[in-house]
Amino acid sequence: MNATLPWDDDKPHEECGVFGVWNGGDAAALTALGLHALQHRGQEAAGIVSLDEGGRFHAHKGLGLVGDNFGEAKVIASLRGSAAVGHNRYATTGETALRNVQPLYADFEFGGFAVAHNGNLTNAHALKRALVRRGCLFQSTTDSEVFIHLIAISLYSTVLDRLIDALKQVQGAYSLVALHDGALIGARDPLGVRPLVLGRLANGGYVLASETCALDIVGAEFVRDIEAGEIVVINDEGVRSVKPFGRHAGRFCIFEYIYFARPDSVMEGTPVYETRKRIGAELARESGVPADVVVPVPDSGVPAAMGYAAEAGIPFELGIIRNHYVGRTFIEPTDQIRHLGVKLKHSANRPMLEGRRVVLVDDSIVRGTTSRKIVEMVRHAGAKEVHMRISSPPTTHSCYYGIDTPERAELMAAKHDVAEMARIIGADSLAFISLDGLYRALGQPGRDAAKPGFCDACFTGDYAIPLTDWQDNADRQLSLLQPAGQ
Ligand code: AMP
Repeated sequence: MNATLPWDDDKPHEECGVFGVWNGGDAAALTALGLHALQHRGQEAAGIVSLDEGGRFHAHKGLGLVGDNFGEAKVIASLRGSAAVGHNRYATTGETALRNVQPLYADFEFGGFAVAHNGNLTNAHALKRALVRRGCLFQSTTDSEVFIHLIAISLYSTVLDRLIDALKQVQGAYSLVALHDGALIGARDPLGVRPLVLGRLANGGYVLASETCALDIVGAEFVRDIEAGEIVVINDEGVRSVKPFGRHAGRFCIFEYIYFARPDSVMEGTPVYETRKRIGAELARESGVPADVVVPVPDSGVPAAMGYAAEAGIPFELGIIRNHYVGRTFIEPTDQIRHLGVKLKHSANRPMLEGRRVVLVDDSIVRGTTSRKIVEMVRHAGAKEVHMRISSPPTTHSCYYGIDTPERAELMAAKHDVAEMARIIGADSLAFISLDGLYRALGQPGRDAAKPGFCDACFTGDYAIPLTDWQDNADRQLSLLQPAGQ
């Protein structure tokens, strides 16, 4: 993520995809497929560690896409064994060193251990400092290595007890998969901020994955979501569940539904695609405007625009065409390239826009770069009016839990009210879905401030997990834009 520590600008914090398999036949091949389905969660690097029947581990990691690294049969063949864990790393502007590519592997007295995680620890730096003082030598800058050292120094004897010992010391949002000679392990943080699901293969083997779309691609049947704070230990005896943190009401990341997850995934029992359509319908009810056509900003705005159009009774058209061979503009490091990136990625479908009153639907405004360019492009193509509708509330706060958002000062909605934002992006009108509307689309009566069902810190600043490493900086950031007198 970009909300970096002041002393640490190589941004080791990332959103990612994880996958694990036990008793999967060609485990590495299944893991490569699973990671391919999770490619949207990370494009910077990919890695797989497998475990063969003789208890030996095999690893292959590389920078770039899954296909770039695991496309060759000989690579997959070298990753022998019926168990494996894999990881996709998200591209940030930070260090892209191979040493940071997960899964991380270490030899302990109990044998080999590989771990990969999705999320972000919020006390990793504090723990790291303490560990380095004790003599631990860190080889990477990724948070996952903290798990490795905490497990290494734990005084418990079993692998599971050592892992629990480690997890009790970390704060943050994580979904992890780990592999040792006796089991595949999956774990979610006590609030279950990041996703992790369990699936079963036709041969009786098991799969863990960040999203259900990765179960589908390997033909695994969805069993259930791993619960908030749950650890599952999977081996030939089956699946054992451990809940070392007691029971908490989960705070699953609401932004997964809005943008991050693939639309064909089902998260916590709720299908992402339908949710996005419902958000669009809610948006139309809340802030409908007379128009001739509803146009999504592809791809992420498509389901919400469909929902909006159906609810408003306005034709839906693909008035903007996306070039699929360009990466997400958000990941480009400089503003100049980011501007260019939008032009590379989107083009106007003129006949659908010319002379029309257009409702443009996108999922979020972060820095505002995309919206400004898109509005300009649609006007240039002859639109009579351009009304921007956003299927999330204004993004006013940085995410410290594993979604890549810029620092607060760079978030357009942290600096400007909606009317100003409309003016800056050049739209005739701009509206965001309300927080209650978003919760309604997710099947709740609205947001219960005493007991919110999701992590929505990016829209509310309600950070449910302590921001230990950022505390000074975060306090400053949080107070930065408070209206005077508050
Ligand atoms: P911006 O141009 O900074 O306002 O970015 C907004 C666009 O980036 C929207 O169209 C989103 O689809 C996309 N977006 C939002 N959040 C993220 C994220 N964490 N990573 C990548 N893209 C994102």
